[in-house]
Amino acid sequence: MVIDDGPAGLAASDYAAHEQLKTLLVAKDISGQVNLTLGIEDYLGYQFIEGPELIDKFQTQMDQFPIEQRIGEKAAKVEQINGGYQVVTEGGERYQARAAILASGKRPRTIGVPSETELLAVASVTAPSATVPFSQNSAWLSSAVGTRRSRRYSAC
Ligand SMILES: Cc1cc2nc3c(=O)[nH]c(=O)nc-3n(C[C@H](O)[C@H](O)[C@H](O)COP(=O)(O)OP(=O)(O)OC[C@H]3O[C@@H](n4cnc5c(N)ncnc54)[C@H](O)[C@@H]3O)c2cc1C
Repeated sequence: MVIDDGPAGLAASDYAAHEQLKTLLVAKDISGQVNLTLGIEDYLGYQFIEGPELIDKFQTQMDQFPIEQRIGEKAAKVEQINGGYQVVTEGGERYQARAAILASGKRPRTIGVPSETELLAVASVTAPSATVPFSQNSAWLSSAVGTRRSRRYSAC
């Protein structure tokens, strides 16, 4: 059982099914953060690909194996049960499996500037892995990238 819908969770589902394991995917949709951007750069195999096109490719790849896809469901709780794991979704559905992979990724942390949400896909000024904006190297990398991509940019 794989929980979550980003590239990591989808790849895990794909490989599990490829190995002929009975695979269940519990996810809100098929995309993860790729859904938040119009273009993905430097993703292995693609120097550039539009976000929606990459999502279509994810879906095509997911459909090549008999993966049981429970899309539109958000996991509310994962618990250990006898012989495996059980996920309870927000809608109250329960799924059980011998093994569970969680690949919940993250939501980019916003920094609270005006129009940030609307401009997310354009300027990309979030910190990829920093828990506190502008406090870690990755945040500085983001700010450097943001500076290059956006004409209006300021770090505060
Ligand atoms: C604006 C933007 C631009 C980017 N540009 C690039 C780029 O050019 N090149 C590049 O390589 N990378 C880029 N990235 C980063 C890339 O999208 C991420 O590194 C990648 O998506 C991470 O994949 P993941 O599977 O680990 O997690 P995520 O993509 O974060 O997916 C995890 C998913 O799990 C879901 N989830 C969480 N909790 C639950 C739950 N309880 N139940 C069900 N589902 C749940 C989340 O909603 C999310 O959809 C960009 C990201 C953003 C936001």
